[in-house]
Amino acid sequence: MTRSTLPAWPTQLFIDGKWVDGSGGRTWCVTNPATGEALADVAIAETADVDLAVRAARRAFDEGPWPRMEPLERGRLLFRLAERIRRDNEVLALTDTLNVGKPIRDTRGFDVPCAASLFESYAGLADKIAGKCFGTLPDNVTMQFREPMGVIAAIVPWNFPLTNAAIKLAPLLACGNTVVLKPSEISPLSALMLAQLAAEVGFPPGVINVIHGTGAETGSPLVSHPGVDKITFTGRHQTGVQMLEAAKVGMKGVMLELGGKTPSIVFPDAPIEHVVNGVITGIFYNLGQVCVAGSRLLVSEQQHDELLSRILERVRNLRQGDPTDETNHLGCLATPQHGETVVRMVDEAHHEGARCLLGGVPSDRSDPKFFPPTIFDGLRPDMVLARQEVFGPVLGVMTYRDEAEAVRLANDCDFGLMANVWTRDGTRALRVARQLRAGKVAINGGGALRPGVPVFGYKMSGIGAELGFDEAIHEYTCSKAVVYSLAEEKSAWPE
Ligand code: NAD
Repeated sequence: MTRSTLPAWPTQLFIDGKWVDGSGGRTWCVTNPATGEALADVAIAETADVDLAVRAARRAFDEGPWPRMEPLERGRLLFRLAERIRRDNEVLALTDTLNVGKPIRDTRGFDVPCAASLFESYAGLADKIAGKCFGTLPDNVTMQFREPMGVIAAIVPWNFPLTNAAIKLAPLLACGNTVVLKPSEISPLSALMLAQLAAEVGFPPGVINVIHGTGAETGSPLVSHPGVDKITFTGRHQTGVQMLEAAKVGMKGVMLELGGKTPSIVFPDAPIEHVVNGVITGIFYNLGQVCVAGSRLLVSEQQHDELLSRILERVRNLRQGDPTDETNHLGCLATPQHGETVVRMVDEAHHEGARCLLGGVPSDRSDPKFFPPTIFDGLRPDMVLARQEVFGPVLGVMTYRDEAEAVRLANDCDFGLMANVWTRDGTRALRVARQLRAGKVAINGGGALRPGVPVFGYKMSGIGAELGFDEAIHEYTCSKAVVYSLAEEKSAWPE
């Protein structure tokens, strides 16, 4: 599959099972960040279109078959959607590669299969959602029902365009909700293709609506719409704060998956080649545009030189270039604006006195999108690279003297999404894992996304949990207690 053999992308809004233009007739030019090529002009949803989408989702929930459908049938539709995603792997993978500059080996090998796995996995949840019965209470039988919540507004970023959409849709649909999905304005193509596939396999109209536009123009009216029951958001902390503001009107539910500043603590007994590989993958995969990117390396003073020299040697061999070339490990940043943000933060790191060991400047400063893998040593906890998410290929290195200091440095950060621990000593690994303030701790690697494992943000990394079957039920269903009294006697009060 090549750019010239790709089928045309959908460029309209998908509302109530139909493809429609935006009411204002305006479009947004989606571009390939690697080449600057215009890929497609995609319709922009204005407030009136957002209203149509929410009303369609509302009707599909209040009157349509979806929440009342035999759960196995809902599961079958999710499974059929997964099959179509697998069938179209090449087209979807190339679409996201062209749209956000990530290497084709990653979109083909991870993004698309992961999206399919999510739908396959949650297909199996649909018929297993059950309540509780408090059968031993005196004088009554009390039941807790778990009911679909309603219309969910799902807002996602650009770093894994298709996968981010699947992470939201698979659990919330399995739980019987309807959705208005707003992908990032930068990367809407694969989400629109997902809507196309959902229509093909027979999702009822209005269950999945996909609209497109900027946060201000489309996202904001969506999350403030009174017809929305819950906002599920993935993105930056600053935008998350705006979601909370929107949610307080009408007391909407809210789930936030925000940024991270993942520490990787390496103890000297860890298998070093495994560590080197894990650290490099952790920070440079997708050029660090990953919420759980391992951007802080904590190494003991005595192991520092050896570990760094091995990491540097391996990173120098990574190939960066055309994202469609399957021999490249690294592509480009998703937008020129994001490239400028990375440059600004790296300049600040230089200015603060962190020691640059590798990279640090793009080959063309006026066009920083192919930002190279960058490593700074001598990081202090007050420096920008220790505190703020760069969302780029920038690793900061700190040393520690003992385990207690390693844990203290790892926790000295406002984010708490994930942490890595590297050691062969199982007791130490679990002791440290228990002290780390992070929603996920990976011991000796293996921390990749899995549908059944919850992603929970400590501190500023979020509110609520993404994925995880119990957590999905908790996030995307309402609880209803039904009390059935067995009492035959009237109550004492008001006698
Ligand atoms: P962003 O917050 O700028 O945008 C995310 C989405 O929110 C986009 O669709 C955007 O259009 C929309 N948006 C922006 N302003 C809005 C508003 N006022 N109302 C409604 N919608 C609005 O984030 P980004 O730059 O696209 O993504 C990068 C961020 O995402 C990073 O911080 C990263 O850590 C985070 N992220 C987190 C996870 C996780 O699971 N925790 C996963 C992936 C990415």
